[in-house]
Amino acid sequence: MCAAGIALMIASGGLLAQSATDWFYTLGRALGIVAAVLMMTQVLLASRAPWVERAIGHDRAIATHARLGKLAIILMLVHAAILTTASGVYDGRSPVSQFLTWPQYGWFMLFAQIALATFTIVLITSLAAVRLRWPYERWHAVHMLVYVGVAFAVPHQFLEGSTFRTGGLSWWFWAVLWTVSIGSFVLFRLARPLVLLARHGLTVESVEPRADGSTTVTIAGRDVARLRARAGQFFLWRFLAPGLRGQSHPYSLSAAPGDRLRITVKASGDGSSRVRDLQPGTRVLAEGPLGVFTHASRSRGPIVMICAGIGITPVRSMLEEVTAGDDVTVIVRARSRDEAPLLDEVEQLCTERGARLHVLLGSRGGTWGTREQPASIGDLVEDPAGADVYICGPRAWALAVEADALGAGVSPDAVHREEFGW
Ligand SMILES: Cc1cc2nc3c(=O)[nH]c(=O)nc-3n(C[C@H](O)[C@H](O)[C@H](O)COP(=O)(O)OP(=O)(O)OC[C@H]3O[C@@H](n4cnc5c(N)ncnc54)[C@H](O)[C@@H]3O)c2cc1C
Repeated sequence: MCAAGIALMIASGGLLAQSATDWFYTLGRALGIVAAVLMMTQVLLASRAPWVERAIGHDRAIATHARLGKLAIILMLVHAAILTTASGVYDGRSPVSQFLTWPQYGWFMLFAQIALATFTIVLITSLAAVRLRWPYERWHAVHMLVYVGVAFAVPHQFLEGSTFRTGGLSWWFWAVLWTVSIGSFVLFRLARPLVLLARHGLTVESVEPRADGSTTVTIAGRDVARLRARAGQFFLWRFLAPGLRGQSHPYSLSAAPGDRLRITVKASGDGSSRVRDLQPGTRVLAEGPLGVFTHASRSRGPIVMICAGIGITPVRSMLEEVTAGDDVTVIVRARSRDEAPLLDEVEQLCTERGARLHVLLGSRGGTWGTREQPASIGDLVEDPAGADVYICGPRAWALAVEADALGAGVSPDAVHREEFGW
């Protein structure tokens, strides 16, 4: 895409090569094209478009979005700096004077400057030093400015960039790319949750505090089966209740979906702690179903499901979809039996479905098992290399389990990891 964009730029006479300033200017424009492609990829990755979710999975889409995002913004800033400096040289102005002159080229250049300011704010607040100090909701609200930035940046690409002003193939190339990415975002990220609310009328049916401190919430609505959710998937939930309507959180289904959806939430911060106070009848906006942590991604016969803490939720729901004759091993790690969410239900399902269950209890340390019960996949599973391995829990722990699985001969494409944090 980047190569096509640059080729179209050159084809429309965009390669200036008379002087060093020309080369510098051309480089600035090429970087702008790469930044624009990265930016529309960003918008698409965060759009929740079903084909993106199916192709790479939600967490990989978000991880790629996070990785490419900073690069896209940095290239955008370098593009602006180079074009401002080179244009200043052509017109005999200093870079500062050229920057202040840009709005005289047209309203779209003032818009581009506003975009630059929003991108800079997003870049600074995405740096670990700020991000880790801020509550997730505040960081996320500021992060949303990137879409304002995109809306302000696009007009100058069409109205100032001479590649696009000339119309023709280049114009259509960019028009189609932006329409697909921004259109997907508006359709799936903004409109779809509202359509789902209207069509399914999801509401909280019951709220059940559990002895281990977690809370199970059942959500009912019209025609829930038409959501076509699978056990193991998650939704982004926004409960329209005081203190919660401003935030949406990912929670996995803790039971196989039928005419109701069920989640189980462990209090870890402000939003999750308020879930236990939800009242039946509260309306719910849901984005999803999302994720590929389901039986559909199995590529082998036997299946091993390994989870820690509240990471048990998708495993609990996937157990319900296990069919007779499936070779299933479940490994649950928890601090203690009292603190293990849903363990009683998992034990019962394992008995009913003939699945082997290993429960590792104790404090952290040594292996991905516990200090008291160290674990390795090779010891707990007969033929790990021939199985699909599903891992769900905190990131560092999940990575340790994955490394052990790969070391035991599990093929990388048979490892399915769901991390409860992005
Ligand atoms: C795919 C997935 C499935 C999950 N399933 C469950 C589940 O079944 N049960 C359960 O108890 N927890 C689950 N979680 C974790 C749950 O989403 C977080 O614990 C919750 O969002 C924390 O919000 P908070 O306001 O309580 O805490 P905060 O203090 O605001 O956040 C704590 C951390 O949680 C993460 N987080 C917060 N909000 C979001 C968000 N909207 N999107 C992504 N990450 C966020 C961030 O890393 C943040 O640093 C899941 C997470 C993911 C990514």
